[in-house]
Amino acid sequence: MTTAKRLETIEDVLTANGVSRRTFLKFCISTASFMALAPSMSTVIAKELLKARRPSVIYLSFQECTGCLESLTRSYTPSVENMIFNMVSLDYDDTLMAAAGKQSEEALDTVIKENYGHYMMVVDGAVPLGNGGVYNTQGGKSAVQILTDSAKGAAAIVCVGTCSSFGGIPLAHPNPTGAVPVSDIITDKPIINVSGCPPIPAVITSTLVHYVTLGVPALDAHHRPLAFFGNTIHDRCYRRPFFDEGKFAKTFDDEGARNGWCLYELGCKGPTTYNACATTKWNEGTSFPIESGHPCLGCSEPNFWDRNGSFYAPLAAGLISSVAPIGEAAGAGAAAGVGTAALSRLRNRAKVRQRATEKQTSKEE
Ligand code: SF4
Ligand code: SF4
Repeated sequence: MTTAKRLETIEDVLTANGVSRRTFLKFCISTASFMALAPSMSTVIAKELLKARRPSVIYLSFQECTGCLESLTRSYTPSVENMIFNMVSLDYDDTLMAAAGKQSEEALDTVIKENYGHYMMVVDGAVPLGNGGVYNTQGGKSAVQILTDSAKGAAAIVCVGTCSSFGGIPLAHPNPTGAVPVSDIITDKPIINVSGCPPIPAVITSTLVHYVTLGVPALDAHHRPLAFFGNTIHDRCYRRPFFDEGKFAKTFDDEGARNGWCLYELGCKGPTTYNACATTKWNEGTSFPIESGHPCLGCSEPNFWDRNGSFYAPLAAGLISSVAPIGEAAGAGAAAGVGTAALSRLRNRAKVRQRATEKQTSKEE
C-alpha cells in the first residue's frame, strides 16, 4: 500500500501482473452473472475495466467491530487480492496498513490531496455525535471530523455494513454515544449502502467492481444495490415450500427442525429482510444461517437490533401480511404463517377434506 497517485489503467496493471486474457474474461463473465446483469454485459465490463483508471480507495473505520473488514478479506468472487492489486488502489486503510500514528495521518492527507475529487471512500462503522463526538477519536480528531474532511474530495462513498449504512448496533437503544449512519452527515455525495452484519464479502467487492466499471448501480429506497437487495431472504429461501404448506419447526430440536421445516415460528425475519444470503450464501457459497438451522435475524435492515421484538419471537401478523407476495402461493403462505399453529391445523384439515373430495369424485367417475 503506497500513497503515490495512481494513473495506470487496470489493463496496465493486469498486463504487468501477467493476468491472461482468458482469466480476465472469465472474471468479467462471473462478475456480470453475480450481479444478475445480462450475459452481454460481461463484454461491457471487460471493455470498461480495461480502459478504466484504478480509483484510489480510502477505507475509514469508525464505531465498528472490524467484522465487516474481516468479511471483506474473505471474498472469493472477486477475491479481495484481485480487488486490491488489480481493480482499485487501496491507498489508505488504517487497519490493514503497516503505517501507524503520525505516518498514517500524513498518508491520509497525501492520498486526499493527490486524488482530490476522484477517490472512492469506503466506510465501516457508525459515527458518534454525542458530546461533540468524543466517543471515537483518532489522532485527536473526532470520527465526524475525519469523515467530513475526507468526504469533501470523494467521488462516491460506499458504506460497508449495517453500522455505517443505518447506524447498526451502536445506534441501538439507548444509543449512548449518539451514533448515526454516514448518510445523516454526508448529504452531497452518492452513497451506496452495502448493509449486513457483516455484509456478504462478494457483495462488497462486486459492488466496488460495478462502481469502477459501470458507475453507481441501481439502488433501492435504502440506497442498497438492487442486484443483491432486490428480494427478501423469504422470497428465495429453500424452506419456502414448508412455509407455504404451513409446516413450521416449533423448537430447535423437534421433528419439524429435523425435517428442515420453516423457521418462521422460531423468529425468522426472512420475510422482511432484503439481502442475498439465500442465493449468494456464505463461505464460498457453502451455506447460510437458515440452511444451518437458525432463523434470519434481519441484520441488513435499518434498526435491525431494536425492530420486530425479540430475535426469537415470530414476526407480528401486520408485518408479515404487508410483505409483497411473489406468487399466489406466497399469499397463501403468509396467511398460514400469521395464523401460526391454529391456522396451520385448519389448513391441514382443509387439505384432508379436499383430498377426500377428490377421491370421492374420482370414484364417482
Ligand atoms: S420464514 Fe424464514 S425459514 Fe421460513 S421460508 Fe421464510 S425465510 Fe425461510
Ligand atoms: S440470514 Fe439474515 S441475519 Fe443472517 S446474515 Fe443473512 S440477512 Fe443477516
